[in-house]
Amino acid sequence: MTKIPTLPRKHLFDLPEGVIYLDGNSLGPLPKGVAARAAEVITAEWGGQLIRGWNASGWMDQPGRVGDMLGRLIGATKGSVVLGDTLSIKVFQALAAALALRPDRRVILSDSGNFPSDLYMAEGLVRLRDAGFTLRVVAPEAVAGAIDDSVAVVMLTEVDYRTGRRHDMAALTRAAHGAGAVMVWDLAHSAGAVDVDLAASGCEFAVGCTYKYLNGGPGAPAFIYIRPDLQGVAQPFLSGWLGHEAPFAFDPTYRPAPNIERMRVGTPPVVQMSMLETALSVWEGVEMADIRAASVALCDQFIAKVEARCPELTLISPRNAAQRGSQVSFAYQNGYAAMQALIARGVIGDFRAPDVMRFGITPLYIDAADVTAAVAIMGEVMEHRLWDRPEHHAAQKVT
Ligand SMILES: *Cc1c(COP(=O)(O)O)cnc(C)c1O
Repeated sequence: MTKIPTLPRKHLFDLPEGVIYLDGNSLGPLPKGVAARAAEVITAEWGGQLIRGWNASGWMDQPGRVGDMLGRLIGATKGSVVLGDTLSIKVFQALAAALALRPDRRVILSDSGNFPSDLYMAEGLVRLRDAGFTLRVVAPEAVAGAIDDSVAVVMLTEVDYRTGRRHDMAALTRAAHGAGAVMVWDLAHSAGAVDVDLAASGCEFAVGCTYKYLNGGPGAPAFIYIRPDLQGVAQPFLSGWLGHEAPFAFDPTYRPAPNIERMRVGTPPVVQMSMLETALSVWEGVEMADIRAASVALCDQFIAKVEARCPELTLISPRNAAQRGSQVSFAYQNGYAAMQALIARGVIGDFRAPDVMRFGITPLYIDAADVTAAVAIMGEVMEHRLWDRPEHHAAQKVT
């Protein structure tokens, strides 16, 4: 079979004119065909089929079907991923099920690089259980050393949302298992960004969202993975009817489905799920290893050019690509205003308090010419202090 040149695939996206989009780590852009698919689901399926759509258009099986499409991108075996709800909910489900696998232990170990919602969900679960559980949060570099036999669950996000620092998934999973702990990985900044091999890692649970590197659109459903041997064991504590073994038996007592379907909760968001299904078609024929190689090359190029052109910015992402995801972050005291000035000139990244300018590098639709053009604009903004205008300092709700 001849290999089709796969990257970039800009022609598969509706990107606005005059924009270099370096924020696909936060909200992926619109793939072509998604809007038409949403309209078709609304008009032909919902409008035309009404309740019959659940069977006739396969709405009911969609969470697992899309799970398999996505699973290929994260090294999950067929039938081990299901979609639904938001990532915060999936974190709660994974963590609750993970804790139940180690009933004699009381510590959840995480790190300060984790996304706040993951830590908040853990805090809520600790309060709910009211049984002496603690959430222990250490620095990312200290995680390996903090895993001991008091730890029930190690819960980590592989790629840090601020710095792009990437944990060693295989090594930390081995360390967790060596101490008898259960491993939960959050792949929010990994799925579609880096080459993840869930099956090889041996982790028990993984979760992630689909509106970042997977381009499912704002509010796209999240996913959860359970290692195949645990699918009949892991307990679904958000025991909604669609995770039941036989939802349409309307049994008054709950019996979990024997497979990954047990992590479903309630009615799936059909329109949004259909948008995601179409969005995932842009990955057809793309190997994550090729995405990763292109991402590393583009990130290295971006770092070298920015450091040469914008000496005011300090790299806070790891310089070593092996320890980095698919984003590059720089610290700059006036980072908020500088990012606003860049956005006004068509270079869209984002800002995280107190001083982090984030740039997502997404080889599906970003290439070397985009990197060069973006850095030229960054250079102008920095050299001439174009950020130092009142309109760029005005604070907005979402940064
Ligand atoms: C983006 C992100 C979230 C967001 O959770 P939602 O429930 O989808 O809003 C949670 N955790 C991590 C690690 C993230 O990167």
